[in-house]
Amino acid sequence: MEHSMNMEPQAQEAANQDFMLQLQKTFAQLPHDIPIYMFLNRGEDNIFAQTNRQIVRAFRELTDKITFREHYMDHELARKWNVSHSPTLVIAPERVNIRWLGAPLGEEGKTFLETLLFVGMGKSHVSDQSEKVLARIDSQRNVKVFVSATCPYCPQEAVNAVKAAIEKPDLVSVEIIDIQCAPDLANQYSAHSVPQAFANDILIGQGAQTEEVFMASLEKMEAQTVFIPESDAELVENDIVIIGGGPAGIAAGIYAVRSGLNAAVLEKEALGGQVATTPIVENYPGFTQVGGKTLVDIMVSHALQYVKIFPGEEVVEIEPGTPIKVKTSRRLFETRAVLLATGAKHRYLGAKGEKLFGGRGVSYCSTCDGPLFKGKKVIMVGGGNSAVTEALHLRNMGIDVTLVHRRDKLRAQEVLAKQLPQNNVPILWNTEVKEIRGDLRVEEVELFNNKTNETQVMPIDGVFIAIGYEPANDLAKKLGVELDEEGFIKHDEKHRTSIPGIYSAGDVEGGYKQIVTASGHGSSAALTIFEDLIDPYWLKKERAAGTN
Ligand SMILES: Cc1cc2nc3c(=O)[nH]c(=O)nc-3n(C[C@H](O)[C@H](O)[C@H](O)COP(=O)(O)OP(=O)(O)OC[C@H]3O[C@@H](n4cnc5c(N)ncnc54)[C@H](O)[C@@H]3O)c2cc1C
Repeated sequence: MEHSMNMEPQAQEAANQDFMLQLQKTFAQLPHDIPIYMFLNRGEDNIFAQTNRQIVRAFRELTDKITFREHYMDHELARKWNVSHSPTLVIAPERVNIRWLGAPLGEEGKTFLETLLFVGMGKSHVSDQSEKVLARIDSQRNVKVFVSATCPYCPQEAVNAVKAAIEKPDLVSVEIIDIQCAPDLANQYSAHSVPQAFANDILIGQGAQTEEVFMASLEKMEAQTVFIPESDAELVENDIVIIGGGPAGIAAGIYAVRSGLNAAVLEKEALGGQVATTPIVENYPGFTQVGGKTLVDIMVSHALQYVKIFPGEEVVEIEPGTPIKVKTSRRLFETRAVLLATGAKHRYLGAKGEKLFGGRGVSYCSTCDGPLFKGKKVIMVGGGNSAVTEALHLRNMGIDVTLVHRRDKLRAQEVLAKQLPQNNVPILWNTEVKEIRGDLRVEEVELFNNKTNETQVMPIDGVFIAIGYEPANDLAKKLGVELDEEGFIKHDEKHRTSIPGIYSAGDVEGGYKQIVTASGHGSSAALTIFEDLIDPYWLKKERAAGTN
């Protein structure tokens, strides 16, 4: 719902009005009413309850299809619908079983809007592939999705659950739980990173899943990692398929379409890639300081004016040839060129207990999971820009954070490093995390000083890790694209890889890993692809080599 910040105020106002008008029309066409009930304890009119009232009031100004009733927890309807948490929003309970524990704050506003529209339409809008999976579910699934207002990955997982509840109203119930409003429940489920999805109290998803992977996990009652379309996958023909919706992929999409190519951007998780979870960006030209998520919204709204973006769609296989076949969790693309803009993924520490406590106190995303640690004690492991930025971000959230670094000097820029003492963030130098321990969740860490050889045990609630990134090269590897010794994609100066028709851009190529460089390389790669398609580069190369 955010609009371009670089617009003139008047243009922005007009765009907002346009959006509201569009929404009004959409609501007017909905065939079903959307009754919403809020239940709360007597005398507990907290920020969540107040926000719920404001949000629902704003929607009611757009449509009379929404009705709103408030009841105390001892009301007979609370008993009838088994409401046990205050406040809870219950949506159209006579038709579906969807509720919010807390309020749809921040990022969750999107989930709430989509939920209202789907409920009003009476349609889930799941893909054909998901529909087939859901059709096989024949017993009750009580789903809980833990989310936070600042988590850009959460709406994807929450909307998956909402769609399942609308598609199978008799068998699937959904509770979307804000970890800040219901920390007791988050503790009970040891859900210390978001999003996390449980069905009948069994963990079925940690992190954002594509719709099809979520549905398969819900069916099998076990977290699935990939989903291969079963049959009859929709076929889409394109000039260029761009894999990755980070800065490189988004810029490439804009340039490709402006060059006259028919392009698609496929993104499996959060649009914006790593930028979506970057608290503050201070070095992107045009913005002295901008929140990562805000920058992503601006980039995406710009890109959407040109290029078709397929969110929540993971590429699982690429088959080179003419055409090149790109298989996703939902569709089959046939295309003339592929741009690998798959970026980078966080590095693991390799400490004992790290995997075991993943999502239960060990986190790689301070933006997403920070809110749950307010008033608690955590460590941030790392010494680069990311670790320092994120430690400062946690400190600002009211978290007692200590930076743990294995060397005696930070790699972070001086301007950032200076802010640590100014913000009372202590640093443990020459210190390595040997083990992360606890019972159900993180309770302590064993730290080793590599200068003094001393070991200490520190009681702790959370371990945040930001020790760098490695190329997301799974697809490239599978395809047989040549990689360098560090796993980055080898490419020529025009972003062509070792395989005809396959190009690369952004962090997956190595080099300077910055938003501005990734965007620049994305745009260059798109322009190369345009040139190569007009003047068949690969064909000429093969002819010159005598292979065609
Ligand atoms: C905490 C943090 C702070 C940072 N701060 C700054 C900063 O202040 N300034 C700056 O310039 N840079 C910063 N960076 C670096 C910057 O974010 C990256 O250089 C940039 O995002 C790289 O863009 P990219 O498009 O190459 O890759 P990414 O941003 O990694 O995007 C790649 C995308 O591809 C998707 N993808 C991968 N595989 C598949 C698949 N199989 N199917 C579909 N989609 C797939 C991923 O989900 C991801 O969204 C920061 C990074 C981090 C982590």
